[in-house]
Amino acid sequence: MPLFSPPRYQPAFAPVQRESSVAMRVFTAVERSLKGALFGCRMCGNCILQETAFACPMTCPKGLRNGLCGGATPEHCEVDPSRPCTWYVIYERAERMGRLDKLLEVNAPIDGSRAGRETWLDMLAHWRAQENGPRLMDLVLDREKFTEAWDRFFYELRQPDWWQGDAEYHPPAYEEPASGLEAALRLGDFVVTAEIAPPLGATGDIIEKKVGWLQDYVTAANFTDNASASPRMSSLAASKICLDAGLEPVMQLQARDRSRVIIEADAMGAAGLGIHNILCLSGDHQRFGPGPMAKPDQFDMDAVQVLWMLRRMRDEGVYLDGREIKNRPTWFLGAAASPFGAPPKYEAIRAEKKINAGAQFIQTQPIFDYGRFLEWLEALDKRNLLDKVYLLPGIVPLKTSRAAHFMAENVPGVVIPDELLQRMDAAESSEAQQEVGIAYALELIERLQKTPKINGVHIMAVHWEAIVPRLVEGAGLSKSVIYP
Ligand code: SF4
Repeated sequence: MPLFSPPRYQPAFAPVQRESSVAMRVFTAVERSLKGALFGCRMCGNCILQETAFACPMTCPKGLRNGLCGGATPEHCEVDPSRPCTWYVIYERAERMGRLDKLLEVNAPIDGSRAGRETWLDMLAHWRAQENGPRLMDLVLDREKFTEAWDRFFYELRQPDWWQGDAEYHPPAYEEPASGLEAALRLGDFVVTAEIAPPLGATGDIIEKKVGWLQDYVTAANFTDNASASPRMSSLAASKICLDAGLEPVMQLQARDRSRVIIEADAMGAAGLGIHNILCLSGDHQRFGPGPMAKPDQFDMDAVQVLWMLRRMRDEGVYLDGREIKNRPTWFLGAAASPFGAPPKYEAIRAEKKINAGAQFIQTQPIFDYGRFLEWLEALDKRNLLDKVYLLPGIVPLKTSRAAHFMAENVPGVVIPDELLQRMDAAESSEAQQEVGIAYALELIERLQKTPKINGVHIMAVHWEAIVPRLVEGAGLSKSVIYP
């Protein structure tokens, strides 16, 4: 076990090209051994230890470089329960060191050409090339000057020219709403979106049927993107079928299984097809799929990086490699949040990072515990986030008592109050249990409608989409504006 980080989940990288000199190969091997023993270093060649309280984020099985995933718990990592969550280690240590806000900077995905190569000589060369780099004597003579030079030096090292991540909020740089969903939210309507699971088979008939059920009730429908690492019809294809059937889609786009090139291509393709709402996700680890499990390194980027990259493509008109985009895409970008995952103060940092990177709306994991949801909201408020993003809390109408217990016990980030479990258990028939689930969902929607800064709800009635109209009508809601 390394001294400062959890153990590595994947082995260290090897250089793309073998170093030509023996001396360099020996130097690299020494660096790899030392940094491996201290930090579980994978030799990604893009070190951000100064920002992550000296725990290496590359020891996270998903390689997340911008914060924890929705399944993290204080006890262990969701992917490998034998290890702690790397990001819990980072947040807790950063908090002890008074450096929590350091975690707000949007870190770059790794540069594959640097992976496996030494960084110490590179750092030395960079330091020598700087005129006003940190000077050791200032450590004694002028501590403030030293800290400022030190921070600037490492910022330049970890933020390559092609990324230039920062910790600032970047509002969208366009005027007209990108989609009907954005138009409705801007108008101040209490908006309803709903999830439709893409089919397992090759026909769009089932999507058209479900769109028929929902199109008079919801402003947009989300299509999951191979959730739980289980293949289905692609989110892009399902979204297009939905659009053609007369309802606006929210295309979920996850980073897992996609390189940065494919993410750019799929998002651009979506815009070309008229799909303008994109929800950016890191994605579930391949361990949760039906198997055989894909090889371990399936994450080239994380959700924060996807948001940062797509926002810049849209607002600055450049691909990640710097090529100009002549006809810029129109996207309304969203993100997910997990109000019951990590402590609200950590989740709020994660949310701030996504909002700064480009998230304009957030759809959350299911809410059952209104009181605890308010704690998360308060944490966002403390960071002044509530006027920068539209919030659509997730609503899941529970169908059976068994499903309720399963979610409460097995799904990280889901908290179901005992009172609701008891109500479900007390209902004698499956129909009665459904009615309890529906009634509770309606109670929650009513409370959320009265909650300041809540802009709507996102209903996730998985394989029970037919219930959505009843929920919308029961809550006294109606479909928002049709745009354009
Ligand atoms: S729980 Fe998630 S964020 Fe934490 S180490 Fe595991 S995969 Fe990474």
